[in-house]
Amino acid sequence: MSQSVCILGVTGSIGQSTLKILQQHPEEYSVFAVTAHSRIVELVEICKQYRPKIAVVPFNKVDELRRLLVAKKLTDIEILHDEAGLIAVAEHPQVDVVMAAIVGAAGLLPTLAAAKAGKRVLLANKEALVMSGDIMIQTARENNALLLPVDSEHNAIFQCLPETYLQGERHGQPKLGVKQILLTASGGPFLHHSLEQLQSVTPAQACKHPNWSMGQKISVDSATLMNKGLELIEACHLFAVEEQFVTVVVHPQSIIHSMVQYVDGSTLAQMGNPDMCTPIAHALAWPKRIQTHVPPLDLFVHSQLNFEQPDIQRFPALKLARQAMKAGGLAPTILNAANEIAVAAFLHEKIGFTQIPQIVEHVLGQVENSAANNIDVILHADKSARMVAEKAVLNSGS
Ligand code: NAD
Ligand code: MG
Repeated sequence: MSQSVCILGVTGSIGQSTLKILQQHPEEYSVFAVTAHSRIVELVEICKQYRPKIAVVPFNKVDELRRLLVAKKLTDIEILHDEAGLIAVAEHPQVDVVMAAIVGAAGLLPTLAAAKAGKRVLLANKEALVMSGDIMIQTARENNALLLPVDSEHNAIFQCLPETYLQGERHGQPKLGVKQILLTASGGPFLHHSLEQLQSVTPAQACKHPNWSMGQKISVDSATLMNKGLELIEACHLFAVEEQFVTVVVHPQSIIHSMVQYVDGSTLAQMGNPDMCTPIAHALAWPKRIQTHVPPLDLFVHSQLNFEQPDIQRFPALKLARQAMKAGGLAPTILNAANEIAVAAFLHEKIGFTQIPQIVEHVLGQVENSAANNIDVILHADKSARMVAEKAVLNSGS
């Protein structure tokens, strides 16, 4: 029987790649629900092609969406709105698979709802896991949800680990002969920029990633290396290891998507052309493998693979994320919230590139850390951190 899919964030980069895969396998998958925050014209085109039962948008876009759907004679698509709508489709009894591809904290509650409803959750929205950590993992485990990593590095690690690693009991030493996880990083567009050069880079330069085509926020995160910091935290939660067992390796070609080292001297790597369709297809079909349009790796073309240490002097975001993971509790939530505000401010040219980690560090020092016992405490810390970060952005201009 065909699997029914809900795509949270369908108009984004991951949402689009997901549709590409589903389109190739119409017998196996159908699109039940789609959500978008903006780009309503694109959403309507998606509705026309994939005929979902439900579409979710912000309340202030409902009229526009309805008008455009009526114009296309798509009157049988139900429209829901805002967070309640996102949660309703994520936990809908007719949904089998939820692609969590909203960017940032806005995806937290819908992703958690999917985990609570025992879905197969394809996790792209790393910020949701960084914020909720143990709560997300425990919710998935208690409700027999499958939390499958779509982030290319984590998908690679998942492919290189023994199967029982996913949603492991609690953070600690690696098990089953695993020695450490090697999380690869492309290093982003400014890998060899000096500190001085970094001070004057523009949003357009930061969004131009050398190997991957992605949304704006993750592109800036890749340029500051905060993306790798968030991914370090993501890996600790997904694979239940403490941060010291995750080593970041800069690999500018993005051909190896990450590695796992074993105690017997083996190092397993997952390789492929940098295209998110591969990890999406893997998470969608696991444990099966399905066809994608991604061409096989031509090692004669990619004959040079390089590796280097990350430079935390020039890219302090990585250090801040590691410290936040070590500190635990609400620190990752505070780090993530401050980063979301700082990245938005950089994209709007209110602050410079090197001020992003400075603001994150400032906010981590200002907002009190405590145990992340429940989701309300997490949402409160997220809000407080955003307020302190907004203030820091304002002050940075004066
Ligand atoms: P994007 O900006 O291209 O798309 C984001 C999607 O989320 C859009 O559909 C948008 O409408 C929706 N959205 C934005 N704000 C929202 C809000 N407040 N409420 C509801 N919906 C909202 O982002 P992307 O590059 O597709 O990334 C999505 C997620 O996947 C991010 O968490 C990112 O870190 C992760 N990810 C992306 C890639 C990639 O290659 N793009 C790789 C790994 C992980
Ligand atoms: Mg990644």
